[in-house]
Amino acid sequence: MNILSVSDLSKVYQSGSRKLTVLDEVSFDIESGEIISIVGPSGSGKTTLLGLCAGLDSASKGSVSLNGENLQTMNEDQRAAVRNQHVGFIFQNFQLLPTLTALENVMVPLELKKRKDARVKAQELLEKVGLGDRATHYPTQLSGGEQQRVSIARAFANEPKILFADEPTGNLDTETGEMIEKLIFDLNKEQGTTLVLVTHDLDLAAKTQRIIHIKGGKIQEDAHA
Ligand code: ADP
Repeated sequence: MNILSVSDLSKVYQSGSRKLTVLDEVSFDIESGEIISIVGPSGSGKTTLLGLCAGLDSASKGSVSLNGENLQTMNEDQRAAVRNQHVGFIFQNFQLLPTLTALENVMVPLELKKRKDARVKAQELLEKVGLGDRATHYPTQLSGGEQQRVSIARAFANEPKILFADEPTGNLDTETGEMIEKLIFDLNKEQGTTLVLVTHDLDLAAKTQRIIHIKGGKIQEDAHA
């Protein structure tokens, strides 16, 4: 079964009178449980594509179907509901809420799902990523690697069917990067979560089952290992 179907997807940004076509009729399907990476030069549209697939933004043309639901016909609230239900997202720059502690950041998706055990579950997730003793720390009191691990705990919280990660190991030292890689790959092993990783790290891409190369907003190659 396809967890994600992308069909003739285009994204045009308008800046003043200039139009910039960032994605140009991109199509591909991802099967449930697949591990794929999206690679390509800077500015080729990878982050834009990931955001559209995860329902963070809407396309100019074409469609994205996630778990059988067409995101293109939904409004922002409806897309947010699908995200809360099925999607985990790891941002390149973590995007933790600065006024919340590590624990409270991880609690956000659990509270959206009205989980009564949100606090206990969030603490368990922090322990899973090795940060049980940092629960009361605010993001500014954490290193980059620790912030990324909190963002991973948050992305895991709703037990997503599909996890999108934008340069999850970018800006991190090798040891922290390897730890983060393991956490992400273990989610696939343990829960069968589909993984879609944007990365410029070709070693990381080589560990995935399929690599989609993007250039100038078009798919250049879609290679299965
Ligand atoms: P990548 O992730 O491959 O580096 P992006 O998807 O971030 O590429 O960006 C692709 C292009 O779209 C870049 O030229 C970028 O400047 C442009 N872009 C991204 N977001 C916006 C936006 N919100 N408004 C206008 N242009 C944008």
